[in-house]
Amino acid sequence: MNDFTDDPLLNAGLETLAVRAGVVRTAEGEHSEPIFATSSYVFANAAEAAARFNGEEQGNVYSRYTNPTVRTFEQRIAALEGGEAAVGTASGMAAILSTAMALLKAGDHVICSRDVFGTTTNLFARYMAKFGVEVSFVPLLDLAAWKQAMREQTAMLFLETPSNPLCEVADIRSLSTLAHDNDCLLVVDNCFCTPALQTPLSLGADIVVHSATKYLDGQGRCVGGAVVGAARHMSEVETFLRTCGPTMSAFNAWVFLKGLETLRLRMDAHSRSALELALWLQQHSAVQQVYYAGLESHPGHELAKRQQSAFGGVLSFQVRGGQEQAWQVIDATRIMSLTANLGDAKTTIVHPATTTHGRLSDEQREQAGIGRNLIRVSVGLENIEDLKADLERGLAALG
Ligand SMILES: *Cc1c(COP(=O)(O)O)cnc(C)c1O
Repeated sequence: MNDFTDDPLLNAGLETLAVRAGVVRTAEGEHSEPIFATSSYVFANAAEAAARFNGEEQGNVYSRYTNPTVRTFEQRIAALEGGEAAVGTASGMAAILSTAMALLKAGDHVICSRDVFGTTTNLFARYMAKFGVEVSFVPLLDLAAWKQAMREQTAMLFLETPSNPLCEVADIRSLSTLAHDNDCLLVVDNCFCTPALQTPLSLGADIVVHSATKYLDGQGRCVGGAVVGAARHMSEVETFLRTCGPTMSAFNAWVFLKGLETLRLRMDAHSRSALELALWLQQHSAVQQVYYAGLESHPGHELAKRQQSAFGGVLSFQVRGGQEQAWQVIDATRIMSLTANLGDAKTTIVHPATTTHGRLSDEQREQAGIGRNLIRVSVGLENIEDLKADLERGLAALG
């Protein structure tokens, strides 16, 4: 963890920060960031070792504590999100776990959007509950429900926007006001937009969490995560990581650094193709409804336009019919990858009702609006005409 105070980059644009923030050259003069593949570090003499251990002197001791490649990644993601500091973690779930463990205690209460990543729901409901942290789940867009769920003990509000798979858009500004009026922290999972499209801290959120596995890498190579926010909060999260160990590896940090260099170009391309695919699907006779905030017909369109600089790469749509028809369309594709992952250069397609949201009861799924005829696509970087043709193979058969 480090403050981002590197002068020449202080007012630099996102594209510049994505390439340059956090770079420290070694005496070798390397241009590309090196991977520090070392678990520990040597000291010049016994006095220096003692000073590093008792904290009198700053410096590397052990890679569960600090690693220069991970530090470069942390400085870069902090700069991109506009946060004072960041910490890298072993996965997106490790980022959420570390945030919760560092900033919550037994007796606290959390309000979490019902429409977050399924494993996040389990983390709060199953594990945080075990340690005496109560959690209430509320529909993402129901501000009255968020207000109603507020208690004396509420310490944290947690949400993801846009939501998966229906692209619902939450008003970060209003929820941050609600959080702060009640002395709570607002935590936003910014996985779907990335700082290229949305910076929740600038809208009043206190902490941003990431699954770097998705768009930060963008090429499906590594699992990792990040937490970004004020230095005083990040120092708590860092202490948890140092003590409990779900740290990011140097190699993964290096992959994410390379991924971030192209973040703007990729997010713009994903967004452009997703919008074109959404418009094409919307006029298709075999398609019942398309969910993408870039469409004027989407209820979150106006808010997304204010809050995001583009609409991202994930969309979903209902085919006319039910599960059989949805599966037919998915199975007819020959370019898209049938996988639950997202945020990859390769387009992925999945049937949420029987995979990512398969553990929900029929009633919960219905409440969440995830029908059996729904298909989710994470639009990659292939030629858009090829992607349309790939979906048309299955859709034409339905018509
Ligand atoms: C994938 C994902 C996570 C979890 O991240 P991992 O890197 O898989 O641990 C959390 N939130 C969202 C929105 C995700 O898509």
